[in-house]
Formats: sequence, C-alpha cells, structure tokens
Amino acid sequence: MKVNYAGTVSLSTVDWRGRAAVAIFFRGCPLRCPYCQNHPYLQGPNPVELDFVKEQIRKSKPFVSAVVFSGGEPLIQDAIVPLAEFAREMRLAIGIHTNGCCPEMVSELVKQKLVDKFFIDIKAPPDDPKLYGKVTGCGESEAVKEAPEQITASVIKTLEIVDSCGLEMELRTTLIRDFIGSPQEIASIAAWISKHMKNRELTYVLQQGIPEYSLQEDLRKLRVLERDELYELGKIAKSFLENVRIRTKESGEEVISDSL
Ligand code: SF4
Repeated sequence: MKVNYAGTVSLSTVDWRGRAAVAIFFRGCPLRCPYCQNHPYLQGPNPVELDFVKEQIRKSKPFVSAVVFSGGEPLIQDAIVPLAEFAREMRLAIGIHTNGCCPEMVSELVKQKLVDKFFIDIKAPPDDPKLYGKVTGCGESEAVKEAPEQITASVIKTLEIVDSCGLEMELRTTLIRDFIGSPQEIASIAAWISKHMKNRELTYVLQQGIPEYSLQEDLRKLRVLERDELYELGKIAKSFLENVRIRTKESGEEVISDSL
C-alpha cells in the first residue's frame, strides 16, 4: 500500500499540547480553504511505501509518546488504518487532525480503537452552510466537489461520532480578519458547540491565521488578527464553553480565564 505523503516532523511539541509527538503529514485534501497555509500539501501525488512512513515513526519512538496524523486531510487515505495500527504496536498515543469531512473513516478508527484524541476543525457555524462553503472554498475551486450542505453534514456527523464515544477532543477555528472570526461568528460557533456537544471536557481553540501564507492571493495582504483581539474573541466563546484557548505566534497558547 502507498501513502500520498507530504512530510514528517520527527519531534513536535505544538501538534498535541502536553506531548512530544512525531507528526506525519498526508498530501491531499477535499477542501480548498482560501486561508490554507498548508497549500503546498494540497496538490500532486507523492506516493511512498507504507514501510517508509512506518520507519519515520519508528525512528522517533525513543523521543516521543505520541504520533499525530495531519495534512492536508489524513482521513481520505486508507493508509491511515495500518499506520495507526503500527503506532498502537509501538505503544504510541494516536492523535488525528481532521477537517471533519470523513465521518466514515472516523467511525472505522473509533470502532477499531485506533485513536486517542481528535483535533477537529470547526471552520464556521455548522448551521450556516453558506458561510461554511465560503470558508472551505466551495464554488471557488473545482477541487471542492461537495456542496456546502454536504460539508456541514459531514462535519456534524464527525462531531457527533467523536462526542458520543467520549474520546478526548479539541475543536479549532482559524481566524482571518474580515474573512472569518467576527464576534457574531465566534458566538454562533461556540453556541452551536455548547448546544450540541455532550462532552464538557472538550477544548475549543481560536487559532491565529497568518494571512500572508494564504492559498488565495487576495487574503495575503490582510492584517493578522493580534493576540489581544483573539483574547477578546476568546472571552465571547468562554461565555458559552468551559475550556477555551487562543493560539498566537506572539504568545503561544493561552487559556481564557474565568475572571472576565
Ligand atoms: S486548511 Fe482547509 S484546505 Fe488546507 S488542509 Fe486544512 S482543510 Fe484542507
């Protein structure tokens, strides 16, 4: 079996908070978010043997306690299953970064007990397909085959599966000034999570998008949202949810405290 492979970070401390992990990046994604910063991973095949990727994991094993599968979108490739099995054999914890568009694979991995933590994008309010479509490049790129309503249905299904199995879960929204992340939009996302997710331990993270690296050229000139602006948006989310954090290049990861 081949892996459409993008690369490995042998020792990462930023892909799974609190763990040293080896991060494996898969190539390809069914979405084209205009702010995507991993767009070099979106196109073109780079097939490598499964054993090559296993070897990347094996080499990091002495230094890490976990493997994170990321991308692109790792769950569009069947190779994720044998790679997660291999990580289990190596006694590594398994984290998956996903855009939520592959609920069938989520279900399969959960059934086989091949995941310990999901990190799931919630790019816009799931009950607003029009906005979700804009943020995921629907209508902008022929690469996006699904309609906005299909994307939100898949994301909701993914969230429901992970919520009902009780696994650790981080939900994350990437914010870009004047594109996604207004106070109203953050309130809508946080309210949706609060209403639909039973897991009160989940963490919601607002991530600072870096416009200059965007896939879509006209976003590159936008001014980055600053740490203080993200913190204010985090306070809005905190009024709906227990565990809220922001992630910025200035200050790393910060918890939104109760003292508002
Ligand atoms: S940001 Fe969007 S397009 Fe880029 S890898 Fe993630 S889901 Fe795919």
